[in-house]
Amino acid sequence: MLPSFDTQDMEAGLRVIEDLTSNANLIQDQLLREILAQNARTEYLNRFLDGQLDKEAFKRQVPVVQYEDIKPYMERIANGEPSDISSQPITQLLTSSGTSGGKLKLMPSTAEDLERRALFQNLLVPVMNKYVEGLDQGKAMHILFIRQEIRTPGGLMARSTLTSYYKSSNFLNRPYNRFNIYTSPNEAILCPDDKQSMYCQLLCGLIQRHEVLRVGAVFASAFLRAIKFLEANWEEMCSNIRTGRVSSWITDLPCRSAVSSMLIGPNPELAISVEKECGSGKSWEGIVKRLWPRTKYIEVIITGSMAQYIPMLDFYGGGIPLVSIPYASSECYFGINLQPLGKPCDVSYTLLPNMAYFEFLPLETNHGETETVDLVDVKLGHYYELIVTTLTGLYRYRVGDILMVTGFHNKAPQFRFVQRQNALLSIDADKTSEEDLLNAVTKAKEHLEQLGLLLAEYTSYPDTSSIPGHYVIYWELKAKGCKSDFRELDKGLMEECCSTMEESLDSVYRSCRRKEKSIGPLEIRVVREGTFDELMDYCIMQGSSFSQYKTPRCIKSDAALKILNSGVMGSFCSQCVPPWDPFNMV
Ligand code: AMP
Repeated sequence: MLPSFDTQDMEAGLRVIEDLTSNANLIQDQLLREILAQNARTEYLNRFLDGQLDKEAFKRQVPVVQYEDIKPYMERIANGEPSDISSQPITQLLTSSGTSGGKLKLMPSTAEDLERRALFQNLLVPVMNKYVEGLDQGKAMHILFIRQEIRTPGGLMARSTLTSYYKSSNFLNRPYNRFNIYTSPNEAILCPDDKQSMYCQLLCGLIQRHEVLRVGAVFASAFLRAIKFLEANWEEMCSNIRTGRVSSWITDLPCRSAVSSMLIGPNPELAISVEKECGSGKSWEGIVKRLWPRTKYIEVIITGSMAQYIPMLDFYGGGIPLVSIPYASSECYFGINLQPLGKPCDVSYTLLPNMAYFEFLPLETNHGETETVDLVDVKLGHYYELIVTTLTGLYRYRVGDILMVTGFHNKAPQFRFVQRQNALLSIDADKTSEEDLLNAVTKAKEHLEQLGLLLAEYTSYPDTSSIPGHYVIYWELKAKGCKSDFRELDKGLMEECCSTMEESLDSVYRSCRRKEKSIGPLEIRVVREGTFDELMDYCIMQGSSFSQYKTPRCIKSDAALKILNSGVMGSFCSQCVPPWDPFNMV
């Protein structure tokens, strides 16, 4: 049974969290019992359990699996065959941003699952309200998008988890709650055309600029895309505000009429006040604070690969706190950051024990071993791979995320998101992860400070077209001032960036470079502004979700590579071999 509470009663929301975290062990055991009682007779579980319902048998006999193992089951569900994994009807399939064999991964979802996810969403506001006063005195400018839905051959909808939530009655018919009023009308959020949706949501945000108390998007990258969009379109928006008429290219009728009803006549004073902040060659530093002066925080996910956007958010936000609250996925929702005003580097998520039955595979012993640890038994400072079992039909499923225990809230552990498990780049024996690459980029980009430049985006590519192969890192830069001018890119300094990156990569990489000479000098290619937007457009055309889009940190497709290469303005290579200490290999 899911706990219920009055969503206007913030104390009640906090009590739910206290109750869940204080009884983490009990709730985990209850949830597993419920899952087994419901599903032990499904074809999938019965194969392993033969009717047994106890936790020990479950952990002993049911294998830990990856997507490839369950893919045939998902395909059968998509084809309209009966579900072999869950006794509850699968009502939709959720599309993950992860792919398998070039196709989106599909996750099962049920009616009850939607309620569970809605409960999670409802717990986010009480957490913020505990730390920030007066959230009921204004609105949230959250730029939210839906993505295209696909009907599977069997007639089920396949869509992203957020699309499913924004289209659900839990979101659309949410009871009036003064803590949770958005500047974006539902019609703008639900507009299937991303450009019209973005334009209208930002326009509505400008119209209500003095009511906005918090701004955000799901991921940091999406919020920055919105700011970039505003940078390109504020003049047209001001003209709409001045005349009281929405631009004629906004043709989505529900969206157009919702925004028009918000414009209520010409408002030249508002147009002038927005122009004053955006225009006449002004730097956009602190623009969020200037346009939405009552903003108390920017709510975006800034952990994992999103950490690279923190400097850009600080630049545009002008020091407004960054708040990263949910940790969630298509498989299930995981946890909440209960200290939302902490420093970005300290963000940890407390897993909520009623979201899934969680197990943890210790990273140190992860050599084919599948001995897992329960939620309440994880150890401080240890690294684990997250494994989930859900009521929807995922059993001991490896999510692919690596987490580190940073503390406990009552009995429930708190985790730092370390990385998505994956070797991102490899030329020889080296296996550079997303986190390794981010660290190296973070160190190298410090050199950019002296040029007044910010790193706006980056990705990588293992170039094996020549022997030895080498890492190519694509950088899109942005001037801190109002105008971008890269004529002054200093060759020596950029070469230093390349060397700093190499020095920051791990000892296997440096050994390959120095000893085996199996990797050539690292290359940085600087691309012109807008190239990564083109890359995003391409990825979305290929099926990535607009709202869940994350820049791929390693380029796999020729077409994407072509886009990046066509934007190259300068290429720089490391001029020295990085140091390597053979005694420092382990
Ligand atoms: P998707 O299934 O496309 O929704 O992606 C879910 C994945 O996004 C998770 O397994 C994580 O790898 C990543 N993710 C979600 N929330 C966060 C977060 N708060 N911090 C870092 N990564 C996250």
